[in-house]
Amino acid sequence: MPDATQVTRFTSSAEATVSGVSSQIESRNPATGEVLGRVPVSSTEEVRAVVASARRAQEAWALLPIEERTVRLLRFRNAIVDRGEEIVELLSQENGKTRHESLLFEVFPVAEVATYLSKHAAEILSPQRVTLGLAKYRTAYLQYVPRGVVAIISPWNFPFVLSLGDTLFALAAGNAVVLKPSEVTPLVLAKAKEIWDATAGLPRDLFQVVQGYGKTGSDLIDAQPDMVVFTGGVATGKRVAAMCGERLIPCTLELGGKAPLIACEDADIERTARGIVFGGFANSGQICISVERVYAHAQVHDRLLERVVGLVSELRQGDPMTSLDLDVGAMTFDKQVDVVEKHIADAKQKGAVVRTGGTRKGMFFAPTVIAGCNHDMTVMTEEIFGPIVPFMKVASEDEAIAHANDSHLGLNAYVFTADREKGRRIAERVLAGSVVVNDVFVNYAMAEAPFGGVKQSGIGRVHGPEGLRSFCHVKHVNVDRFGTMDREPTWYPFTKGAYGGFQKAVRALFGGGSLAKRLGDLL
Ligand code: NAD
Repeated sequence: MPDATQVTRFTSSAEATVSGVSSQIESRNPATGEVLGRVPVSSTEEVRAVVASARRAQEAWALLPIEERTVRLLRFRNAIVDRGEEIVELLSQENGKTRHESLLFEVFPVAEVATYLSKHAAEILSPQRVTLGLAKYRTAYLQYVPRGVVAIISPWNFPFVLSLGDTLFALAAGNAVVLKPSEVTPLVLAKAKEIWDATAGLPRDLFQVVQGYGKTGSDLIDAQPDMVVFTGGVATGKRVAAMCGERLIPCTLELGGKAPLIACEDADIERTARGIVFGGFANSGQICISVERVYAHAQVHDRLLERVVGLVSELRQGDPMTSLDLDVGAMTFDKQVDVVEKHIADAKQKGAVVRTGGTRKGMFFAPTVIAGCNHDMTVMTEEIFGPIVPFMKVASEDEAIAHANDSHLGLNAYVFTADREKGRRIAERVLAGSVVVNDVFVNYAMAEAPFGGVKQSGIGRVHGPEGLRSFCHVKHVNVDRFGTMDREPTWYPFTKGAYGGFQKAVRALFGGGSLAKRLGDLL
């Protein structure tokens, strides 16, 4: 493994926004420090020109039937799958994750999203009849109209799926997409664009990639797209939301997570322990839905903790490109390693015990389990986004739920119990966008179900019918049903006689009398 100094890289996006940027981004392999390639940073003028050309391409795309759009998107899926190994290798080199993770968490879900859209997008976006109450003499339906150009700004932890998943949804809905990937992982999206351009039937300008730091992201919003989908940290999300607010651009924000895992007193120790280890250390813990805090019932706490520590000792960590028999790769972004170290120092200083891990070699951070944690420690209250699982013992499931909800974040949550009914009851009380019983992560891979956060974890949903429709504005089309008269009774002229008639009608319809009730039930 390389020395830490060899792999220090990249200005953080926040710094880059204020301090000016270089004209090229150099991408390095975090596991080895090797330079993988460079991409030019898009200028403000280039970003504007890209948005304008995407807008032109969108007009023709929106005119195609949805079925035709999704058939063409399947060609893109097929090309991605055909070149899957090339993508997996680049992803693992650029991001540090294992090749299993690149295949199963990045390439697979992108292919699944395209497949889901090909089966369901046309039905989800078909006009929806509105059943009218009072106005039965008219008909109404909702038309889902593409917004236009969607700007997608994505992070480095899952550069492929968090860029292309939203891209496919936006395109299926009839939009064009301009994507700004993270400056930490630019190459894999340059590859995606190359594959797009090489696929027959996909208009080049319909999906475009601009490269750069935070400044390029704000240039993109400033170019007035019709919607912004941002995935990233809470602090950046607030800046993006403020920019969108000033310009009245609708935005979806997928922000940080602090997923609690509640281990009930009847939890199966082996499955729960394995769930915690996979949920805590997959992608080196750099997942917005990683298990970030464990609340274990006193009945199972000690056995669960010992089993988790035992399982961690079996994990094999190393450079993803050297072997397929590896569980954990390298962390991606050196600034994130600093965050992880700060959490551990804070927890130790406040009395927690590091049971395993806590050390780094370059960008390889050992999977770390910390016992004896509480909510005075940042490791239980702030996002970690690294390979740490902190444990807290609780006396009851009510106490676990109270702690789980004591957070400014609410993206995912997990409950492990032998009693599915109890699992459902607890899930319904936890404040989060998704709660999974007896498993980890699976919900994100389900393109059928909406995904997103509550509280500071974000605004809006991706995936599922809700996610697809969010890429459209909803137009209410309202048409007369039986032919028309010269004028409606509610139109001019207003007269005293008409007023009296309306007064009676309002009382009859909405007043307390029995006629009002009968009419109300009828309508
Ligand atoms: P980040 O907020 O630093 O950057 C995200 C993207 O925003 C990057 O492309 C960056 O260049 C861009 N950006 C930075 N400043 C900007 C500005 N002022 N205007 C416009 N764009 C700007 O996040 P990150 O470090 O890349 O990713 C890690 C974070 O993402 C974590 O907090 C994680 O929880 C979150 N995340 C959330 C989800 C989710 O679905 N909710 C998924 C993955 C990651």
